[in-house]
Amino acid sequence: MAQIRILPETLSNKIAAGEVVERPASVVKELLENSLDAGATRILIDIEKGGHSFIQITDNGQGMDSDDALLSVERHATSKIQTDEDLFKISTLGFRGEALSSISSVSRFTLITKNAESDVGTQIDIEGGKLSSVKSVGAPVGTLIRVQDLFYNTPARRKFLKAISTEMAHIADMLNSLALAHPKVFFRLTHNKREVKTWSVAEAHARDRVLDVFGTSIQNRIYDFHAKEGEVKLHGWLVSSRHPKPSSKNIYIFVNGRYVRDRSILSAILQGYQGRLMKGEFPQLVLFLELPPNEVDVNVHPTKQEVRFLEQRKIYQLVLSVIAQNLQRHETPLWGNAPTPQDILMGRTTPSLPNFQKPASFSSKTNPGTQSSFPRSSQPIGSLDSTTVFFQKALVKEEEPILAHKKFSGLEIIGQFHNSYILAESSNGHLIIIDQHAAHERIVFEQLKEARKKAKIETQQLLMPETIELKFAQADLLEQNLSVFQKIGFDIEAFGGTTFLIKGIPSLLIGKQIEPVLVEILEKESFASSLETGEVQLESYLHVVACHSSIRGNQKLTMAEMKKLLEDMDRFDLSGNCPHGRPTWIEQPLAELEKAFRRT
Ligand code: ADP
Ligand code: MG
Repeated sequence: MAQIRILPETLSNKIAAGEVVERPASVVKELLENSLDAGATRILIDIEKGGHSFIQITDNGQGMDSDDALLSVERHATSKIQTDEDLFKISTLGFRGEALSSISSVSRFTLITKNAESDVGTQIDIEGGKLSSVKSVGAPVGTLIRVQDLFYNTPARRKFLKAISTEMAHIADMLNSLALAHPKVFFRLTHNKREVKTWSVAEAHARDRVLDVFGTSIQNRIYDFHAKEGEVKLHGWLVSSRHPKPSSKNIYIFVNGRYVRDRSILSAILQGYQGRLMKGEFPQLVLFLELPPNEVDVNVHPTKQEVRFLEQRKIYQLVLSVIAQNLQRHETPLWGNAPTPQDILMGRTTPSLPNFQKPASFSSKTNPGTQSSFPRSSQPIGSLDSTTVFFQKALVKEEEPILAHKKFSGLEIIGQFHNSYILAESSNGHLIIIDQHAAHERIVFEQLKEARKKAKIETQQLLMPETIELKFAQADLLEQNLSVFQKIGFDIEAFGGTTFLIKGIPSLLIGKQIEPVLVEILEKESFASSLETGEVQLESYLHVVACHSSIRGNQKLTMAEMKKLLEDMDRFDLSGNCPHGRPTWIEQPLAELEKAFRRT
């Protein structure tokens, strides 16, 4: 049997590094947390090549004298645990004295620091865990840490480094979360020596910091909330459900000041928004939860971000009801009556569909004799919510192909309802209701797909190119994917920094606002995670273009426009759903109406 040996210090540090330092973003996170712990009010973050080659954090915190500086890079060296009682902080805040030793063991590492009591600063250089020099240098009070060539001596890890844009997106997300928790600290991020974003000091109003993170476009649609139950305190900002996002990335949850991605709280939040969002839509929200440290168990692993509460159920219900109540106070739902907070808590909820779809007569006991003039939908219905499924089922029974060829164009138009729905009558006397936005969106999508197949989505060059400003993570993504946008009809040029010049757009988007289209595509999670551009992915971007170029609900249509829409519905066989999975039309058989009026 092999002999047991104690691992050399440098090797055990390397192993620990695997736990603490997963990727450049986690290095940035550890260093930023140290700067915040040191009381810094101004922190500069300079990154090159997504952090693969260069990460530098400069703070104006309290700094260290030369003895402490040397100790700080030793394993298990921490100034944050002095007494036995402090030990509980190991689990609550994750102080383990491992970050600096780990990071310096897998990089070329420089630390320059000075505290107020020292006359000169100290510079320490470490290469792959080996101290290479210690000297006195001139320096202001504070600390600078430079991490170069991360994982240069652990090739296996280096292989797993992600694309630069992915890493920058992670760093940006993480900075946003730290910035939200520390509104009085100034942060500035640069990438490849270009400034990408500053978070200026939000001295008086933490709300300003929230706007810094979410963008000022939501400033009239953001509501603060506060609640207290026993020793549990809750506050934050929620954004109107009219500004949904395609992922849960803009939901920021903090427990005792620490950013977490806790699934149970996340689900309580989504539950609170129930009835207000479509499938695949997520709210934007910041939530701070404060509770006594002994009522929460923060996982020791620094990257897991999961927590456990002593009273899980109580926290869940508190979060849910506070969100639901505040939403109810501030906005009337788009679709009929959203459930009240009590409804949600009691489980008396209804899916987020227009309430005209649920007339009393429309019970699940649909008259088996009811006939439909509309052929079966070609779309799979498995992913739809229960009401939609029920509807689909109700509609696709015994088919009677009387109008098979001119399904929609053969309808008699009765008129437009609420500037959003076309009401029509089929020859066999059924009432057909068409959602004009959903139908048009689907038509445009089919047109785009057709054009894409022939590799010619029409681009309209703009006489006056439009400039747009993006958030840094988005700008980075766009810059690297200009060719993808070209494929779907855009002609865009990087203009330096986060500015872009839009020279041409898909013809279908003429007269529409371009920036929201680009931002929505860039925010699609698939964009960040894969730079491959399979057809499936391109299609999902075409959805976005289609959605933005469509007739919106709340738009008066002339008879001719309605006729044209119905003809196009036939052209593309729109018996299915819109690209979001919503139904494009529904049908109310005469027999059902008669039943409702008790005529049968
Ligand atoms: P931990 O944060 O768990 O204590 P670290 O390895 O991250 O462990 O840091 C070790 C010690 O180095 C800290 O406890 C702190 O005393 C000191 N230190 C690290 N970064 C800074 C900084 N930016 N400013 C002042 N002191 C720092
Ligand atoms: Mg630390």
